[in-house]
Amino acid sequence: PTLPELANLGTRTHCPYCAFQCGTVLTLDPPARPSSGETDGTITPTVRIQGDPDFPVNAGKLCIKGWTAGELLRHPQRVLQPQIRGRDGRWQRATWEAALDLVAERLQRIQQQHGTDAVGVFGSGVLTNEKAYLLGKFARLALNTPHIDYNGRYCMSSAAAAGNKAFGIDRGLPFPVGDLVLAETLLIVGSNPLETLPPMVQWLDQQQELGGRLIVVDPRRTATAQRAQLHLAVTPGADLALANGLLYLAIEENLVDRNFLTNRTTGWDAVRRTVLDYPPVQVERLTGISESAMRQTVRWLAKPNRGLILTGRGTEQHAKGVDSVLAWINLALALGHVGEPGSGFGTLTGQGNGQGGREHGQKADQLPGYRLIEIDAHREHVARVWGVDPASLPRKGRSAVELLDSLGQPNGIHGLLVMGSNVAVASPDLPRIHERLRSLSFLAVCDLFDHETAQFADVLLPVTQWAEEDGTMTNFEGRVIRRRTAIAPPPGVRTDGWILSELAQRFGQGDRFRYDSTEAIFDELCRATAGGVADYAGMSYARIEQSAGLFWPCPHPAHPGTPRLFADRFFHADGKAKLHPVQHRPAGEEPDSDYPIYFTTGRDLEHYNSGTQTRRSPTLAGKKPMPRLQIHPDLAAEHGIVAGCRVTIASRRSAVEFLAEITRNIRPDTLFAPFHWGGRDAANLLTQATLDPTSRMPEFKLAAVRIVAVQPA
Ligand code: SF4
Repeated sequence: PTLPELANLGTRTHCPYCAFQCGTVLTLDPPARPSSGETDGTITPTVRIQGDPDFPVNAGKLCIKGWTAGELLRHPQRVLQPQIRGRDGRWQRATWEAALDLVAERLQRIQQQHGTDAVGVFGSGVLTNEKAYLLGKFARLALNTPHIDYNGRYCMSSAAAAGNKAFGIDRGLPFPVGDLVLAETLLIVGSNPLETLPPMVQWLDQQQELGGRLIVVDPRRTATAQRAQLHLAVTPGADLALANGLLYLAIEENLVDRNFLTNRTTGWDAVRRTVLDYPPVQVERLTGISESAMRQTVRWLAKPNRGLILTGRGTEQHAKGVDSVLAWINLALALGHVGEPGSGFGTLTGQGNGQGGREHGQKADQLPGYRLIEIDAHREHVARVWGVDPASLPRKGRSAVELLDSLGQPNGIHGLLVMGSNVAVASPDLPRIHERLRSLSFLAVCDLFDHETAQFADVLLPVTQWAEEDGTMTNFEGRVIRRRTAIAPPPGVRTDGWILSELAQRFGQGDRFRYDSTEAIFDELCRATAGGVADYAGMSYARIEQSAGLFWPCPHPAHPGTPRLFADRFFHADGKAKLHPVQHRPAGEEPDSDYPIYFTTGRDLEHYNSGTQTRRSPTLAGKKPMPRLQIHPDLAAEHGIVAGCRVTIASRRSAVEFLAEITRNIRPDTLFAPFHWGGRDAANLLTQATLDPTSRMPEFKLAAVRIVAVQPA
């Protein structure tokens, strides 16, 4: 069949992985729909996945992860029945009733012994909006604990905090992705979308066909940097200094838009005074970027009408991540481009529901609708929707790393529920996190596979996957889209929502977690967000389905949604954006004589985050079975390393052996490895957990290492 025919035959839904949330059309062979009763999950239909040509974000394109996602649906390693850890340390199959009873009984016993705050919840940016909402509600009402956070803290927290400080709102892209083609100059900082968000290439192609330029700031010459007109191979951890240095030159060359600064912003004078400390000679020393490259960058970015800056984890996953993002926002505001199509500032979200995941209450400091848990009026609104006394809602809890670091400690967390997150791979400073997981009294994990975190667990509860469930996701543009059921789940698994509802009953809160459908959860979520910053009050499944999704804010049923923000106003009370003076400072750990090399991490094209799913895909694992350490030929020659050698590198926390890949696409003072693998291959055994003081983002992107052993190829 042609694609339009497929669209008629199949189920339109979205890829399970990244924040692009590419539209897909799923067809089954034999064709069967859950409602028909023809497939009950005991047969193995072939799932065909094609890009949805009518979904504007990917316009029919998918990356290799998207079109192989069906390999996981009937994967032989999938957990199909609840598991309870036996005395011999092995899993034993259990009924759902026995497993849920045990989870409730153990968590209640811990709360009786140590107080309600001794249990915690760790969520995920892969959960649908409905699940994220229920998980936050479950933690606050059923467990009555403040300690809930999620792996989005590792992803978007610095960009989110900076967006809130500068614009009064946090939405990854404040415009539809198609606006990228209008940018005359596009500056991408610390992101490699050609490999992490491959369908974005079509937008970059169009932008360049229209004469647009691309500049990339990255210590590595990534696939994205290779197609740029200018690549700034910045010293790891120095992008804040670079942004301030560019603003210094913009002032010197009279490129600053004074009208825009006067009419639409506050705080310029303090920022201007601060960046005067960043003359080119000083910035060149800190960043390794020449004055001529900096001048070229700022001229290209300023002179056209439309200059656009996009940041990613490379600049955000630092102990100064919030200030780094603020420095790039200062530059965008000073050049006066923010708010016009193809102009301004945005940030590229990583996780599939990284945006929605942080809007609906699974963050330690937030309630649904991006409400803040410490503000009384915000608590009162959500408490009204939930039918409880606002005073009964817990206050702000511990952020992700702090929550994990308290496991098993005095006054810490003794019982933990993890939903959709593989913290034993994804967290920084893994030796410490593994020790903490081992010291927990009780751990329950809800997931698809017996992954690295589940290996520490007492109970493993198997859940449905993307193509087996309904719900909504909010992609990196703030577009709310529908996930639809295409295939019945295997009989032994349950939805995360069902699990939370069953557990809530055991905590005496069953009435507050009884819903007829996923849509009913969404309807309540919309009411809980009404009047908040991320306002979904005007949305419904029917409205979302009538179009290619709805953008928030959408405050009432007649509202068309808001694809573009900032045209007329920013979201602070005075309607203006705020500039913030920010200073470069060293990372939590810098190279020294003992550990003289920078180490940084990131993603491969073939894998997604902790690799729980993609490492199990035969196609993806076949293409990229193990991590490779990128090393510059000069550094390799210094240590006698040739391609194919096994190289052991050590940080102050641990040592890891990698297969060497010699490449000129990295700075000679820097090593890179992807973080998708666990066990002895885990890059996060080396990383460090210095936290940003505002966002509590750990410093994944910079550790100091040394080469300790080389084994010949
Ligand atoms: Fe699209 Fe991301 Fe899925 Fe690739 S992984 S198909 S870019 S949503």
